Amino acid sequence: MKMLFRLIALGLLGVFALIAFSLSAPEAAFSAQPTLQPTETAAPLTTPTSVPTPPLLDLPEVDWEDVGAHKKAMKPAFADDVDRFVDANRYFIVARLSFEPDAVFRAAQRVRFTNRTGEALDLLVFRLYANTPALGGRMNVHHVEVNGVKVEPSLSNLRSVMGVPLPVPLQDGESVELRMDFTLVMTRGLNTSYGRFGYVNDVVSATAWYPTLSVYEPGIGWWTDLPSPQGDPSYTEIGLYEVQLTLPAEMVVAMSGVIVETRRNADGTITYRDVTGPMRDHAFQASKRYMVTETRADGTRIVMLHYRDQADSPTDGTKVAMQYAVQALQIFNATFGEYPYAELVVAQNPTPSGVEFPGIIQIAERAWVQGNRFLEVVIAHEIGHQWFYALVGNNQVALPWIDESLTSYTEFVYFRAAYADPKVGEDYVDSFQQRYTNYLARGLPDLPLDLPVRSYVGISYGAIVYTKGPLFFVELEHVIGREMVYAAIAEYFRRHKYGIAATEDVQRAFEDVSKRDLSALFNQWVRGTQPRA
Ligand SMILES: [Zn+2]
Repeated sequence: MKMLFRLIALGLLGVFALIAFSLSAPEAAFSAQPTLQPTETAAPLTTPTSVPTPPLLDLPEVDWEDVGAHKKAMKPAFADDVDRFVDANRYFIVARLSFEPDAVFRAAQRVRFTNRTGEALDLLVFRLYANTPALGGRMNVHHVEVNGVKVEPSLSNLRSVMGVPLPVPLQDGESVELRMDFTLVMTRGLNTSYGRFGYVNDVVSATAWYPTLSVYEPGIGWWTDLPSPQGDPSYTEIGLYEVQLTLPAEMVVAMSGVIVETRRNADGTITYRDVTGPMRDHAFQASKRYMVTETRADGTRIVMLHYRDQADSPTDGTKVAMQYAVQALQIFNATFGEYPYAELVVAQNPTPSGVEFPGIIQIAERAWVQGNRFLEVVIAHEIGHQWFYALVGNNQVALPWIDESLTSYTEFVYFRAAYADPKVGEDYVDSFQQRYTNYLARGLPDLPLDLPVRSYVGISYGAIVYTKGPLFFVELEHVIGREMVYAAIAEYFRRHKYGIAATEDVQRAFEDVSKRDLSALFNQWVRGTQPRA
């Protein structure tokens, strides 16, 4: 979920707010929505903090066979799912975050990688996404060991790809343990990533904050593409995470997974021990501005991380945001299959829209207001991503439609179910149809859905992947019926939960459930190999 789309998608607000809108002036549509005045926060720094290489951290040994603690991050009915991931990518991370005044991480991680590729490997690839210009962080890995032996990694693609040579080739089925010590600097106030990453408005958005194993595609090799700035950057497999994070005591934090232990240290800091179930990534949000409001829905604890300095405003959006989050979770649980995790964090942050991470979503601070319909749209959308991206994964750079088109369709599912008046859902779908029609009327290209992010120029990305994409599933409703579409998506979720899916997996689930040959429709809309009728 990215900004470009969101600013275009604001057009749908017109349905609710009855405000004029054109594709060329999305910001105007947004400013017509009620917003809060921003709180005064620390100014951007002009001289980034220089961090000398620190000594190696004290990093305890890890018993990789013991996954018991990770079960605490699951709803009880799903606790045993963890047992299937003993050999998945395993992370044990110790990190200390301090403010100097940039946000500076000093950290080390043990990673256990088990080769399940079917091929012998002499290299492992980690992604340092923080170093991409789109995120604007500075990550430096200053020490790497493989099974206790120091090795020299290589860096490429703007320091976003780190190759770790293996002294002995790793055969299929074998495991290796790595240790890496690293620093990460988030320049205060530097917001190149639309709020998804960094230290902005006194809020730390810690995403892409650790060296992340890339994906090895058998027969092709490690994925090393440089992400396009307008799409989501990461492509990862499911793993289990344990994180021990030390923060100044005044910071309030929430993370992917659950915090199982909190320890107050003599130096005035607090160390949080966090564990996850099988998750695709790890992220956290921390700020001295945050406070926590929570509730439970369908056995999951929903944690709202919101600004204390705005909470007393009569128009503060926390209460309605909670209501939308509860509804979205319940509707998607009932329609697609259950969200298996014990916790879901909804965090107000500087993004102008919203961004999804496993177990934690970022929601636009300026939309966090009662009466702002975008707040409802973006919460439904980002929670929908827990099913499509977080649980069923995909290459977000090469095949963005797999998660974004399906997640945009979950907005339709949400509005149809959340309101008794069927007109709400109908108008919502119509607004997408209208935008797609307007886009085509401007003579802009009617591209297929399954192209990489970089193939969509300008507003085409939003108009095709986020607008035509969900309308493709409406077209499928016309052919096989809405019930069948919902059932096919539930079957797709059941088959690929915790895995990675591609276009043929979507088609196969629809064809198996409907018992219809849908190749003509998929070729026409998705692959673009047949002209539209
Ligand atoms: Zn999205």
